[in-house]
Amino acid sequence: MAAYNIIDHEYDVVVVGAGGAGLRATFGMVQHGLKTACITKVFPTRSHTVAAQGGVGAALGNMAEDNWVWHMYDTVKGSDWLGDQDAIEYMCREAIPAVHELEHYGVPFSRTPEGKIYQRPFGGHMRNFGEAPVQRACAAADRTGHAILHTLYQQSLKHKAEFFVEYFALDLMMDPDGSCRGVVALDMATGTIHRFKAHQTVMATGGYGRAYFSCTSAHTCTGDGNAMVSRAGLPLQDMEFVQFHPTGVYGAGVLITEGARGEGGYLTNSSGDRFMERYAPTAKDLASRDVVSRAMTMEIREGRGVGDENDHIFLHLEHLGAEVLHQRLPGITESAKVFAGVDATKDPIPVLPTVHYNMGGIPTNYMAEAIRPQPGNPDAVVPGLMAIGEAASVSVHGANRLGTNSLLDLVVFGRAAALRAKDLIKKGMSHRPLSKDAADLALSRLERLRNANGSLTTAQIRKNMQRTMQSDAAVFRTSKTLKEGYDKMSEIAASLKDIKVTDRSLIFNTDLIEALELENLMACALSTIAGGEARHESRGAHAHEDFPNRDDENWMKHTLAWVSNDWKVKLDYRPVHTYTLTNDVKYIPPKARVY
Ligand SMILES: Cc1cc2nc3c(=O)[nH]c(=O)nc-3n(C[C@H](O)[C@H](O)[C@H](O)COP(=O)(O)OP(=O)(O)OC[C@H]3O[C@@H](n4cnc5c(N)ncnc54)[C@H](O)[C@@H]3O)c2cc1C
Repeated sequence: MAAYNIIDHEYDVVVVGAGGAGLRATFGMVQHGLKTACITKVFPTRSHTVAAQGGVGAALGNMAEDNWVWHMYDTVKGSDWLGDQDAIEYMCREAIPAVHELEHYGVPFSRTPEGKIYQRPFGGHMRNFGEAPVQRACAAADRTGHAILHTLYQQSLKHKAEFFVEYFALDLMMDPDGSCRGVVALDMATGTIHRFKAHQTVMATGGYGRAYFSCTSAHTCTGDGNAMVSRAGLPLQDMEFVQFHPTGVYGAGVLITEGARGEGGYLTNSSGDRFMERYAPTAKDLASRDVVSRAMTMEIREGRGVGDENDHIFLHLEHLGAEVLHQRLPGITESAKVFAGVDATKDPIPVLPTVHYNMGGIPTNYMAEAIRPQPGNPDAVVPGLMAIGEAASVSVHGANRLGTNSLLDLVVFGRAAALRAKDLIKKGMSHRPLSKDAADLALSRLERLRNANGSLTTAQIRKNMQRTMQSDAAVFRTSKTLKEGYDKMSEIAASLKDIKVTDRSLIFNTDLIEALELENLMACALSTIAGGEARHESRGAHAHEDFPNRDDENWMKHTLAWVSNDWKVKLDYRPVHTYTLTNDVKYIPPKARVY
């Protein structure tokens, strides 16, 4: 192997990722007196959290009566009973103090006339156990993520957290005893290699929307953390559950927030029919995302799509009036103009269900500790490893996430990670020496890709992968598409052997970085299709046409997927938690899911 310039660091905690989850964890750790490094491949405020629009969910009851127990019920129902109810209870209860905390940190929320935090309705959030929509999404206009991310970054600076910006994390350092000892990263500006040794390593690397051709996520959402965990021999959980947001701008994929329907927007088909009334008589356009995306897809399939090709749907906002749009939805009014050429105050916006969120990820408990099931203990913890945010599967979102519950998940479990680390790490705890080969996994991969001189470019292989995900792991799936998809994806993964990286340099080598990201995406793509093929039921976002019903007897369990070095996927399962954390609320047993 070529000689690498290696620089060693020692911290109590290293957080990988500076989105909402990573930042909330980072300054929480520092607050508790832990020496903490946060490493991030993009500047913190460029993380995808900045793009979140609609709001963060909490039953504050500022607009009308609300209750965190109703929020819990909606989240369990939204998850189609795949969520772990102990974690859901924790999140929905902690939501209220978490949002007040954000307010005190300085998030510029929109206000009611009395000066309280403004809340809008959002899909699947209902009052009194499903009676009617409730206003629960705490919003800063349609730029809530921007407001939150900048505030959290300012808090991190205030607490003097140490940042390593434009460092690309390559792989975890694992001990032979199975514990995690830290992470290896490449400083993209200097080409130096950094070994971060830590008592706890926190993966906050976000989702993997870019495995698909059309998605609302940033180009940086490449599942790096998931893949690092996978290469460390640990399982990923529930990867088959991929959320399609009903309203991506047709052709562009850019998001129009559900808050647009929360403010009174509605969908129509080619006959001008408000079809959601047929699919979800109570919640209508504010049913859960999986429900609305399926309804739109059925309308299009049955020939009632709009446009020359009858292949999309209209979202109407024009009746809301220019003033409401300007005050509550300025960002998406602009997006409609830029990406669809539509003046939303006058004309409907052309939209299509678009990949938006990954419910699956690194399995954890509600204290953010990563899980690797052992015989007799399905919840065994991986010492030294935590995961939070979209990279994790806690699992509060189960088979389908409710809008606003991700921003909430970031702050609640970012904080939970800091609380847990404070208990686990004793002051002045010393570091065992690393084994000599601790960085080998990372370096051999880097070495292999730098020298890759095959016949296919990263862009070619990536396009094959994205097209296959788009056609074979879509809103509706069948045994045939999933089987073909898995076979095709295995071939595409095998073609990585023939990849070509044009430049050997370690400094600002975007071709090399994209190749590393492509391998990361591939681990996510393969486990998504494999999990989907095996799951013979329909639940939440996994709509399997050959098995159209939910099957609680056989399938109320989490999928675990291990991806081997030669791209084979092995599956196993672990039970869903059918208990709550405290006696304040009872376990909510499964029932039919109607909106
Ligand atoms: C357009 C859009 C709108 C949304 N709107 C809402 C909303 O209104 N409400 C809601 O609740 N949810 C919303 N979501 C979902 C939510 O915003 C995301 O799930 C959430 O922000 C993810 O946060 P995160 O901290 O987990 O990851 P991210 O914000 O994606 O951050 C990931 C971080 O990891 C770092 N990273 C990744 N890989 C590496 C690596 N190899 N080395 C070093 N660093 C790395 C990146 O630099 C980045 O800092 C929206 C999502 C999108 C895409």
